Amino acid sequence: MSKVWNYFAGPCMLPVEVMKKAQEEFCDFEGAGIGIVEMSHRSAEFTKVAQDAEALLRELLNVPSNYKILFEQGGGRGQFAAIPLNLMPEGGHADYFVTGHWSRCAWKECNERYGEAILHECSEQDENGQYFIDYSKMKVTEGSSYAYLCLNETVNGIEVFDIPDTGDVPLIVDMSSDIMTRPIDVSKFGAIIFGLQKNVGPAGMTITIVREDLLGHARKYTPSVLDWSVLAKFESMFNTPCTFSWYMGGLNFKWIKSLGGVTELEKRNIEKSKMLYDYIDSTDFYISKVVPKDRSRVNVVFTLKDESLNDEFIKTAKAKGLIGIKGHKVLGGMRASIYNAMPIEGVKVLVEYMKEFAANHK
Ligand SMILES: *Cc1c(COP(=O)(O)O)cnc(C)c1O
Repeated sequence: MSKVWNYFAGPCMLPVEVMKKAQEEFCDFEGAGIGIVEMSHRSAEFTKVAQDAEALLRELLNVPSNYKILFEQGGGRGQFAAIPLNLMPEGGHADYFVTGHWSRCAWKECNERYGEAILHECSEQDENGQYFIDYSKMKVTEGSSYAYLCLNETVNGIEVFDIPDTGDVPLIVDMSSDIMTRPIDVSKFGAIIFGLQKNVGPAGMTITIVREDLLGHARKYTPSVLDWSVLAKFESMFNTPCTFSWYMGGLNFKWIKSLGGVTELEKRNIEKSKMLYDYIDSTDFYISKVVPKDRSRVNVVFTLKDESLNDEFIKTAKAKGLIGIKGHKVLGGMRASIYNAMPIEGVKVLVEYMKEFAANHK
């Protein structure tokens, strides 16, 4: 098999060391004679896997002791429902700072099913047609149960680098696609949600990091599996957790620690994304529709100036082993996802390909 470079947005490439380790242990986990997916979630072996993963996550993100970490299923989408159900009383309202596709989905889920979600449009286009984040719109309203924000809009390629101050109103953030790509101050947030599949593991597991005082307020009819206080009480084993993803998450956290933690990964992600954006900005063959200050470091979204070449661009790339660069269906264009596991070589290869394609289509 020849080398394939995988730029899919999620599920996405994982570190080869992690994949190999999982393969090695798949049929016989640490001499137990059975594989991890065959084990009871209550076994001594799995309990250790689960606890070690949580401890590493706490260490890597510096999670304060008054925050619970919940290991769940149902994805980001499940949490779009869990957030209002856990935090907004019947008849209450919340503020949604919308900067792209996923925050709009979260707003819709709340507004159409659970209660008033006030829409704050926080992404606008400037006179050059480039999108920028309008931070001045991120203001909470009187009596709001929480404010909601997605820190990295995976589809639009927009990332929030300035965390708004919402005062006493808890700020709930979706970090599905940028968790562990940069250091964050967890204490600024009421809760952080993310799925593993964009940066730190395979699909199947969602994690919620939540401040303890926000637990215990869920509506009565909240499904137990979405009730954060139930999950906290049962240490994420109220129902059978996705044991394989939990284990794989732990292997990824270990890998991140071995590289020097999230500070080191941030450095790498800055270097990788800069290389790609610098090239895009140096030519008029490709266009970025996001202003430099708000560009995502992990989802590089761009278009070809001549969009009639889109199919050929994707097809030729695939023939060279570069896959997953087609943009999300709601936006079109191209997207290269260059998460933690993508080495700088993968970005160099992509830039070389883009140069070559541009030269062949002058
Ligand atoms: C992928 C993604 C989601 C949706 O996650 P699912 O696990 O498919 O429900 C939500 N938010 C962001 C930012 C994402 O990138």
